[in-house]
Amino acid sequence: MNLTELTLTELRTALRQGETNSVAATQAMLDRIVEQDNDIKSYLTITDEMALEQAAAADKRLANGDQSPLLGVPIAVKDIIATKGATTTAGSKILEGFVPPYDAFVVEKLKEAGAVILGKTNTDEFAMGSSTENSGYFTTRNPWDLARVPGGSSGGSAAAVAANMAYGALGTDTGGSVRQPASFCGVVGLRPTYGRISRWGVIAFASSLDQVGTFGRTVADTTALFQAVTGYDRRDSTSLDVPAEDFEAALTGDIKGLKVGVPAEYFVEGMDAEVETAVRAAIAQLEKLGAEIIEISLPHTQYALPVYYLIAPAEASANLARYDGIRYGPRIEGADMIDSVKQTRALFGPEVKRRIMLGTYALSAGYYDEYYGRALKVRTLIKQDFQNAFEQVDVIAAPTSPTTAFKIGERADDPLSMYLADVLTLSLNLSASCGLSVPCGFDSKGLPIGLQLIGNTLQEATILNTAFAYEQA
Ligand code: GLN
Repeated sequence: MNLTELTLTELRTALRQGETNSVAATQAMLDRIVEQDNDIKSYLTITDEMALEQAAAADKRLANGDQSPLLGVPIAVKDIIATKGATTTAGSKILEGFVPPYDAFVVEKLKEAGAVILGKTNTDEFAMGSSTENSGYFTTRNPWDLARVPGGSSGGSAAAVAANMAYGALGTDTGGSVRQPASFCGVVGLRPTYGRISRWGVIAFASSLDQVGTFGRTVADTTALFQAVTGYDRRDSTSLDVPAEDFEAALTGDIKGLKVGVPAEYFVEGMDAEVETAVRAAIAQLEKLGAEIIEISLPHTQYALPVYYLIAPAEASANLARYDGIRYGPRIEGADMIDSVKQTRALFGPEVKRRIMLGTYALSAGYYDEYYGRALKVRTLIKQDFQNAFEQVDVIAAPTSPTTAFKIGERADDPLSMYLADVLTLSLNLSASCGLSVPCGFDSKGLPIGLQLIGNTLQEATILNTAFAYEQA
């Protein structure tokens, strides 16, 4: 058995049937990381000792017939998610060496499910970016072509899963940070409905948009991980208290009669022709599987980018005010208290500083109504676009990204062209929808292309099953 090539669900079965054990699977992942990650650089921290202890404990429980959902399965966690006893930096020098005294809700859930935590994956600083080039540490490389970016901000998680250095991974998606890297790395990435998963212990970027998401090499793997970490939690006031669902059981592969909307606005000028061809072919495949394809319009799509880049920086400027060198992470001693705070805050990277300035400006007296206030109004229009669409259709199908993975350095000096990498994923975060990216082919350079499937509020089961049907076909 080649342990590194098993999918999460295959490994789960093999563990339950005693065909292998968790220590062996964990060691296989750690060996693979040693072999591959010098080139790919997906992990910021490898928690090997803790992982092997967790694996040994899982093996004891497996021997007793324990059927916990992820028992013994090695998983990677984006470094913006707090892990007790393991460094958590959010990709920022301002949190270098910070070891949280508690686990995030999703990490508690992973542990409850019996998962083994391999380490913490690289991210753009505070999840601001689309390529991991904004990480305060290093850039992750795309496993399909090391000269290219893996996408971002959860690029480390996507690359680790794509290169068989984890059976699944957690990320966060504020404007596309799970779906876009999933698309660039040829894996499946789910961004659940806002509030579906508690964000307790997830370092905040833009609080009205942030949500944890899951990566897998298959739809079933992504679903199994989602199932394990989802749920209500009173410590996050935005957490939704909704009845539990069996998402894995919802993967029937039957999509006969499903109404699939194709928004004209998502086939934008300047997008790669090869991306469009692959996505249109995927939509034709859904039709062959019995879905009904309907042309729809999401008329306010063009405003998503400016609205997002007012709201997200505004919220970030407030959330990032807490990093002063007094409570978390390193502190640079200056002449006096103010000087110490100033010098410590200079540890933020250039993109984070840009966002703090943009956000502070948009919120400042005299500009608040004109910028932030207007952005909120247009956000309502974007939400209504989706509500109107979901009166006609069950699922919206579109490309995840207008291009495949770009070259390292190609967009790094041009913030606007970097922001455009998420032009097709941002709207969803501004609305109350959920979405995912599932691989739908390759371009002529051999780079993966992603099909984005968007569902109505709390309709994860529908989009996961649509992706499953497509993947099986
Ligand atoms: N690329 C977008 C940004 O930089 C989205 C990031 C995210 O989803 N965390 O804000």
